[in-house]
Amino acid sequence: MITEVVNANEIHKIDPVFGQLSFDNHEQIVFCNDKDTGLKAIIGIHNTVLGPALGGTRMWNYASEWDALNDVLRLSRGMTYKSAITGLNLGGGKAVLIGDAKTQKTPELMKKFGEFVHSLGGKYITAEDVGMTTSDMDLVRTVTPYVTGISESLGGAGNPSPITAYGVFMGMKAAAKYKFGLDVLEDKVIYVQGIGNVGEALVEHLTNEGAKVIISDINQERLEEVRDKYGVTIYGGNNLYAEEMDIYAPCALGATITNKTIALLKAKIVAGAANNQLADDQIHGKLLQDKGIVYAPDFLINAGGIINVYAELEGYGKAEIIRKTENIYNTTLEILQKAEIQKITPNQAALELAQFRIDARKKEKA
Ligand code: NAD
Repeated sequence: MITEVVNANEIHKIDPVFGQLSFDNHEQIVFCNDKDTGLKAIIGIHNTVLGPALGGTRMWNYASEWDALNDVLRLSRGMTYKSAITGLNLGGGKAVLIGDAKTQKTPELMKKFGEFVHSLGGKYITAEDVGMTTSDMDLVRTVTPYVTGISESLGGAGNPSPITAYGVFMGMKAAAKYKFGLDVLEDKVIYVQGIGNVGEALVEHLTNEGAKVIISDINQERLEEVRDKYGVTIYGGNNLYAEEMDIYAPCALGATITNKTIALLKAKIVAGAANNQLADDQIHGKLLQDKGIVYAPDFLINAGGIINVYAELEGYGKAEIIRKTENIYNTTLEILQKAEIQKITPNQAALELAQFRIDARKKEKA
């Protein structure tokens, strides 16, 4: 009995959800469990001022449930700012499925997850993220309309990754224009870390432009496949941060920009697809700036995917998707200049612009 009281107090003191470092006034956090399919998922709805919370579903073998919760809190917050800065009428949300996508993802599990999404009545709309494919979204579509990123044959806009990569390419070019005076990437040494759906499509743009691309991934088979397809080099060392390079493009998972990696980093620009690249927005944004490294905010330059799935909701076509994605170039340049003038980091400048749009809508609604 005493133990129970002590535990309850301890839990109360820790504030396991609302007290998390990554908790940022999220509107709703939904824990989903289904014993039969083995589903363990968390849906994070950060903010719905601009519209329904749209954001992909990630399946990952998290080391702990805390890691999964932390991830969904950070990712859903990022979606709020991504949609806001891109000018989309969407809020921010995200879902994580705990487990190995290669061995534990089944059609039954995906459908059960879809039922949970459906139970939220459209407040959260899902799409694909790491560990998910268009066909997984097609399965979710069989139980709920609140899903995007479905196959073109089912009326969807298809795989968002090539558009995401195109947006990252645009953001990278804008950062190059800002840093080097020219947005041409020919002969620039660019390390692409993670050559999955987005990373590979980015490699294609970069090699088409004549950049010197070096790739790294934890999947050797994939490395060889991409090397053979685009004639790029596989990174052979064990600490790419310390290598001489012009641009570091994180396209695997987030939080690779830390005290340790910044100390080593020789890149002049960081521009990639991964969400939440800065382990700590403020600290690491500032450390990069102090080192003269230009950071193209992740949630700004990787918005191509959300632009693509938003087309499914709004009914606009490929030409408008491309136009909106190419506009990432202008916004990135605008943000880098704004940061310089206001003596703040690019990440802060981007967050401020996004928050301005959210606050303006909140006022309109009041
Ligand atoms: P993906 O799962 O297709 O690819 C991720 C790749 O990273 C895989 O090849 C994996 O083996 C590799 N990887 C994992 N850990 C690594 C490590 N430690 N070092 C090197 N490589 C590693 O995912 P994706 O769809 O290409 O997305 C990549 C990143 O971009 C993710 O952070 C995702 O959240 C973000 N993102 C994706 C989209 C999209 O449209 N797919 C949109 C916005 C943001």
